[in-house]
Amino acid sequence: MNPLATYKIPFTGLKAGKHDFQLDVNQEFFTYFPESEIDDATGIVDVVLDCADTNMVLHLTMNLKWKVPCGRCLEELNYNLHREDRIAIQYGEETVITEDLWILGKNEIELDLAQTILEMSHIARPTHQVHENESDCDQSMLGFINNESEEESKKTTDPRWDALKNL
Ligand SMILES: [Zn+2]
Repeated sequence: MNPLATYKIPFTGLKAGKHDFQLDVNQEFFTYFPESEIDDATGIVDVVLDCADTNMVLHLTMNLKWKVPCGRCLEELNYNLHREDRIAIQYGEETVITEDLWILGKNEIELDLAQTILEMSHIARPTHQVHENESDCDQSMLGFINNESEEESKKTTDPRWDALKNL
């Protein structure tokens, strides 16, 4: 079975009205997307599919917990990835998918939400993934990382120092 099949919602034969679905997202989900910058996030996407005779509206509410190492000290940080999206769905000759409007061709029978969930989770990320204050960082780790980079810089002598020596 396609491991991402659970993220496909069959819509043919659904009665007019609202239909609720709940999609689990876990660490495994992200392993299917090598380009993902999120490795470990867990939670739920609530889906409400509002069906009418000639169109549908998809409401998605994402609530994930994301574990990521701090960009400065590598200590694990936790962020909430929250996002709500609304996608209008219409029927047409050919399938055309844009951010907030999907036109489904005649052969479509299900809504594939995996890519949408991946994109929503990335948009929901905070801009910086580091401890808010550097003082909150793991100081021993920071010291270690700084020493490493000092070692690096010692290897190349700064030409400005050489110039000073000659004064
Ligand atoms: Zn930190």
